[in-house]
Amino acid sequence: MRETCDVVIAGAGPGGLAAACHAAEAGLKVLVLDAQPQPGGQIWRGEARTGKNPLARKWLTRFAASSARFRPGARVIASPEPGVLLVEEGASSFAVHHGRAILATGARERFLPFPGWTLPGVLGVSGLQVLVKDGLPIRGKRVVLAGTGPLLLAAAATIQSHGGEVLYIAEQAPAADHWRFALQLWRHPSKLLQGAVMTAKLITVPTSTDAWVLAAEGTDRLESVRLSVRGHEEHLRCDYLGASYGLVPNLELPRLLGCEVSHGAVLVDERLETRVPRVHAVGELLGIGGVDQALVTGELAGLVAADRPIPESLARAWRGVRDFSVHLARHDAPREELRRLARPDTVLCRCEDVPLSALEGCTNLREARLYARLGMGACQGRTCGPAAQTLFGWSGEDVRPPCLPARIGSLRLPPPDVSPSHTSKS
Ligand SMILES: Cc1cc2nc3c(=O)[nH]c(=O)nc-3n(C[C@H](O)[C@H](O)[C@H](O)COP(=O)(O)OP(=O)(O)OC[C@H]3O[C@@H](n4cnc5c(N)ncnc54)[C@H](O)[C@@H]3O)c2cc1C
Repeated sequence: MRETCDVVIAGAGPGGLAAACHAAEAGLKVLVLDAQPQPGGQIWRGEARTGKNPLARKWLTRFAASSARFRPGARVIASPEPGVLLVEEGASSFAVHHGRAILATGARERFLPFPGWTLPGVLGVSGLQVLVKDGLPIRGKRVVLAGTGPLLLAAAATIQSHGGEVLYIAEQAPAADHWRFALQLWRHPSKLLQGAVMTAKLITVPTSTDAWVLAAEGTDRLESVRLSVRGHEEHLRCDYLGASYGLVPNLELPRLLGCEVSHGAVLVDERLETRVPRVHAVGELLGIGGVDQALVTGELAGLVAADRPIPESLARAWRGVRDFSVHLARHDAPREELRRLARPDTVLCRCEDVPLSALEGCTNLREARLYARLGMGACQGRTCGPAAQTLFGWSGEDVRPPCLPARIGSLRLPPPDVSPSHTSKS
């Protein structure tokens, strides 16, 4: 099968949705692809069910009313030639021939290994939050959260509101960096307000900066956590541990298309065009900045694609969110001690069961793949790749197709034929 469109958008999170609305409302033929069954991305995916967030409702309604077409469960896996994306959907695949491409593939959590991090009951901070929102029974369960940045507070507030008992919030950032970050929030009033509301809700929860997990302990599942808190050790019995260290952009697709990446973010110009002509990037791909950044950059890219003028207010908003993103990156940078927690027998790649000791002698990611099978399993290095980068400074630049695990049959470029049998916005 073959699709043609003026603009293809990879990712239906806030960034992709905002871009799609502007481009489609200007009369362009827009196709939005997302690996998930619902639009909304990491933050708004459940919104169709709950309808609780007015901002999400506004954008999802606008998207549904636009002429943009949404293909759910559509995973972009390769780009056989410039201007063409190869997409796997269920048991088949199809090619999309496009004018412009807007990449909005978002971010995932950064996991750093420590003894016991693969025990059942240990999850990512935001992963645990998502499970709780989706119905994980948390009432009466004791939870410890360890990581960095505003998502720690968001997760704690969700867990508490569902009846979980948050025993401790361990923020890895040094106190001085944490307060420097908090003090610059006056420039971002909506974030300041959000932070203040969440902090007030969590006033009774013990929280510390300069704090991180030393080890998760238990026989068959998590039973307790050892924390380092300002130079002292704390031991807490608990049912769940959420431990992850901020987010990292999903750079596989931009890298596959040849976009230049610097300091972990896609490089773009003022029109959000990457170094590859007619390929744009928005949202978390530009550096972790949250939903405001995703919406502002999505709107900008949609207007650029439609050849519409950029209102000064939007350009100003972009400068603001960029500034926030720079401060957040400084705050969330993993501290040195986190690089030294794993022991020789601590698993680094959990898909292939690769312990830290197996990497002895490896000097880069390629060698670690070839000699120790790091990143060769089902997730293709999505978890251990960023960990290896933080621990050893190895970067994952050499992305090869497919950029997501795919069936062999999907890799064949489908013969040109008629267009799709089904599309949906539900
Ligand atoms: C687990 C998790 C939980 C979070 N929870 C919160 C929260 O509670 N509050 C908050 O303020 N922020 C939260 N965030 C941050 C939030 O996700 C972002 O601020 C915001 O959603 C970014 O929007 P985006 O459009 O850039 O990307 P996203 O919303 O991440 O959307 C990216 C979309 O791209 C799709 N995609 C990726 N690769 C492909 C591909 N190759 N082919 C097809 N589709 C693809 C994904 O399925 C996803 O739907 C969370 C992040 C994560 C990772």
